[in-house]
Amino acid sequence: MQGAEAMVYSDASMRPVSSWGRLGAEPHDVVELTDRTAIAAAVTGRSGIAHGLGRSYGDACLNPNGLLWRTAGLDRLISFDQATGRLVCEAGVVLRDISRLMIPRGWNLAVVPGTQFVTVGGAIANDVHGKNHHVVGTFGEHVTRLKLIRTSGETIECGPDERPALFGATIGGLGLTGLITEVELQLRPSRGPWLEVETVPFSGLSGFFSLSDESEAAWEHTVSWIDCTSGSALRGLFMRARPAEGRSGRRWRGRMRRVPLTPPVSLVNGLSLKPFNALYYELGKRKTGVQVVHYEPFLFPLDSVLEWNRLYGPKGFYQYQSVVPRAEAFDATRDMLTAIAGAGEGSFLAVLKTFADRPAAGLLSFAREGVTLALDFRTSRALPALFSRLDDIVRAAGGRLYPAKDARMPRDFYQAGYPNLAAFTALRDPGMSSGMSRRLMGF
Ligand SMILES: Cc1cc2nc3c(=O)[nH]c(=O)nc-3n(C[C@H](O)[C@H](O)[C@H](O)COP(=O)(O)OP(=O)(O)OC[C@H]3O[C@@H](n4cnc5c(N)ncnc54)[C@H](O)[C@@H]3O)c2cc1C
Repeated sequence: MQGAEAMVYSDASMRPVSSWGRLGAEPHDVVELTDRTAIAAAVTGRSGIAHGLGRSYGDACLNPNGLLWRTAGLDRLISFDQATGRLVCEAGVVLRDISRLMIPRGWNLAVVPGTQFVTVGGAIANDVHGKNHHVVGTFGEHVTRLKLIRTSGETIECGPDERPALFGATIGGLGLTGLITEVELQLRPSRGPWLEVETVPFSGLSGFFSLSDESEAAWEHTVSWIDCTSGSALRGLFMRARPAEGRSGRRWRGRMRRVPLTPPVSLVNGLSLKPFNALYYELGKRKTGVQVVHYEPFLFPLDSVLEWNRLYGPKGFYQYQSVVPRAEAFDATRDMLTAIAGAGEGSFLAVLKTFADRPAAGLLSFAREGVTLALDFRTSRALPALFSRLDDIVRAAGGRLYPAKDARMPRDFYQAGYPNLAAFTALRDPGMSSGMSRRLMGF
């Protein structure tokens, strides 16, 4: 499948751009890329960073007062081999489009994050994970080849067996090794859009750990929601799913709603947190037992409310996503949840999940053996002190934070969590620079 050719143009006027956390909207010189044959001309000799759909929460996809190459126009599928499941596409293709097109053909992406509104290039640059990490690992494990254009003007093809060092730096490489233009992906056989889903309420962290251990062999997707206001009496809902063999559920209409405006203050606050979490838990408990559900509402529960990030008001919000080794996870997670509840902060959707012990696909990949905790926080004066406390806990446990969700981690903490940074730096494209790279790497 080859699409029509289009143009590359530069809008000379600066435009405000924000990422998913909406913490600011600094001016950017935005260049829309729409034709992969013209990318070299747009990139050569310049300095900037690629921007997919801006679903990263912080500054990984931003370059305040500098150049941003928007890739969403690079949206063509180039070829597909029905027999092998090999798909070649441009880097701006959105994951939702691949799934919707491929599932009826008996194939699907192996890894999808918690939103489908992510480009292939963005999924590679953050080496994203899904709810099935224990089965298939991260997105980068399913990339068989990619094409990069560097700011030197060079076009480089790489893959697991061709220039593997550069390939490993590009997987999870935050867009800093060059602009990914074209990608070959190995899809996974799919049995269709339906999942058998079970929701199991649990109490205490030990409840979470025993459900994780018990579920991983038989359930492809596992994730749990926790009530982060419940403190030491932790409660949550463990959700597990697997392909529904030859069964189909109620028709999924895929209706979208949109948050129509940004409220003047965050609707997520001390007053709303407890009642929302209590209601979510009670509603979730009613869903216990096995149901057959379409994959979209299960895997992407937030995608049905477009622009839900506006609920946090004009000051935006942070996400804090950590991973700590399994051996330290019980104590570290307990301490983090106690600190969060003690600060009166937290989110509607706090997520806890285990990662399997697999070799990382990229030099800077986030996912590692252990337990990951992710929470959103409205912007408040109490946050810096709370984040420092959480950093101390994660660092002492030998863990790290996820750059895709980060807008504030200190540089020394990043360096401690990502020991391959020096090897990565040697492979960087010196022209690629983002707000995050300057904050965490110095350039
Ligand atoms: C609701 C929600 C749920 C999420 N759930 C998960 C989850 O479960 N698991 C998970 O891992 N992540 C999750 N994320 C994070 C998201 O998957 C990543 O931030 C992803 O990278 C966003 O992709 P994007 O296309 O929007 O890229 P952007 O956010 O625009 O960019 C991300 C990075 O990719 C680089 N990049 C983009 N395109 C290219 C290219 N063509 N060449 C080189 N570099 C490029 C950018 O420079 C930047 O460093 C979630 C985000 C949201 C909003």
